[in-house]
Amino acid sequence: MALTVQIRQPGGPEVLEVVDRPVGEPGPGEVRIRHAAIGLNFIDCYHRSGLYPLALPHALGMEGAGTIEAVGEGVSHLQVGDRAAYASNPPGSYSQARVMPAQNVCRLPDAIGFETAAGMMLKGLTAQYLLRKTLPVEGLQTGDWVLFHAAAGGVGLIACQWARHLGLRLIATAGSAEKCELAVAHGAEVAINYRTENFVERVKALTGGRGVKVVYDSVGKDTFEGSLDCLAPFGLMACFGNASGPVPPFAPGVLAAKGSLYLTRATLFTHLRSREATQAMANELFDVVSSGAVKIEVHHRWPLTEVAEAHRALEARVTTGSTVLLP
Ligand code: NDP
Repeated sequence: MALTVQIRQPGGPEVLEVVDRPVGEPGPGEVRIRHAAIGLNFIDCYHRSGLYPLALPHALGMEGAGTIEAVGEGVSHLQVGDRAAYASNPPGSYSQARVMPAQNVCRLPDAIGFETAAGMMLKGLTAQYLLRKTLPVEGLQTGDWVLFHAAAGGVGLIACQWARHLGLRLIATAGSAEKCELAVAHGAEVAINYRTENFVERVKALTGGRGVKVVYDSVGKDTFEGSLDCLAPFGLMACFGNASGPVPPFAPGVLAAKGSLYLTRATLFTHLRSREATQAMANELFDVVSSGAVKIEVHHRWPLTEVAEAHRALEARVTTGSTVLLP
């Protein structure tokens, strides 16, 4: 048996319910993992609210770290007793233990602790594919300007540090002066409080009127149009989230009028489609974390049973960095 957080219907944080349910044995291609720490992500709010519908009832959570308790047939990269961590679909990491597909579960280097791992797998692999695999036509080069919204959040603080490590000039946006300071302390060259300043004007001024090569936009509805106006000709608009709500439909002609822009709506799980791809991305993440180039900032911890409070805080924009739930 394991305490597990599930929803029976979409809604606010109040629909999150803690149940005690059997865990079972892993089938072919599966493992059973006992969680030591669980990552909280904004996508969990989309699942809970119904923006990203799930077949109900369904457990939530897509990121976790812990110890492998049992290994199913055909799984060769993990053994009982291994320390492991993952970002994985379908959801179900909000639990003391679970049976899950082994494909996206990686063995954890000894130097990386469970809380750090739970705070970095989904967010860090996202920063990895955004900065390293979601590129404008001629690629990103040292010294290129990029704009990263919500830069003091979970994905954001990792991206700030990784961009600095890659020699990129990252302009951050964030929702308060304190969050802006945090983004700069983690490697952003400049940070703009987009609740009080016009970020388009600031970006244009900072880049000599030209604009940035890539905008990484996870805020969605509130920033979409302004983000397009921040791009240099042939720039890439990388949409990857909807924290303020989904972007309404728009006409592709807009991209022509603003300078032959490119648009992608990227998602991590396209990149994690095979065991090999997952491990290659995780190895890069483990390297930057182990070397100290990227520090995982776990700023908030909640007991798993108080997950509703954690959701409220995330949606109220009061968290920074990563948040973990402790089973
Ligand atoms: P964060 O810790 O970044 O929290 C979200 C942040 O969004 C808030 O802290 C807030 O920062 C900002 N925000 C702006 N407008 C709103 C609003 N109206 N309501 C709430 N928050 C708002 O979350 P995560 O690190 O978990 O995820 C960051 C984003 O990346 C999310 O949108 C998530 O869905 C997306 N994502 C996408 C992935 C993909 O592959 N497509 C994978 C992982 C994450 P501030 O106050 O500074 O504005």
